Amino acid sequence: MKIKVLRQKTPETEPYWECFTYNGTREISVAGLLDQLNFSDDIVNDLGQKTDRIGWDCSCLQSICGACAMVINETPALACETFLRDLKSDELVLRPLRKFPVIHDLIVDRSSIHDNLKSSNIFIGEYHPTDNEEHDLQYSVAKCLKCGLCLEICPNYTNGRSFYGAVYANDCYLVSSRNQDKAGEIHCAYGEHFARSCSKSLSCMDICPAHIKTLSSIAKLNRK
Ligand code: SF4
Repeated sequence: MKIKVLRQKTPETEPYWECFTYNGTREISVAGLLDQLNFSDDIVNDLGQKTDRIGWDCSCLQSICGACAMVINETPALACETFLRDLKSDELVLRPLRKFPVIHDLIVDRSSIHDNLKSSNIFIGEYHPTDNEEHDLQYSVAKCLKCGLCLEICPNYTNGRSFYGAVYANDCYLVSSRNQDKAGEIHCAYGEHFARSCSKSLSCMDICPAHIKTLSSIAKLNRK
């Protein structure tokens, strides 16, 4: 199997493609494959040249941390839950998420997700429960990995400077429903940084590894 990786040594240097050959089992995830390729001190590309280990991020390897989010054969996905046996092509093409600055190879800087939440005070603080808690939806939304896959697939999200995307809308719902004191402030921020620009393609829901019902979150916030 041919593996093609878009590499970049530092944020300042130009990206370049490098290819590798893999002849092992297809019963392995992309994360497992990257581990295998990186296993020896000297890895070689498909030209037989020694090269550096491929940079990529991971923590849990079980779809919990979201760190291994990348573009796999042109589809944004987690490397740990994408298996070679399920690929439609005989070639594996890996590139970093395109909506975030690249740090190194497949590692990107997703701090804009947290910066945008912080800038609008989207954190729970004190929990003030209401009589009509929507526990199912709140629990679903709280599973967000902050992986950024919903932003990668979104046709409206570009650089996160004005429109903040589904990850922001879901946290707006969660925090405003758990802390009524913040609801007014959050509804304003939601209108400015989400509702005004969302075209409701809902591709974010198809791609979300946590299966978050973003449509339900935005329907409830829009009503308010
Ligand atoms: S909403 Fe889903 S796709 Fe978006 S950051 Fe959270 S877990 Fe990832």
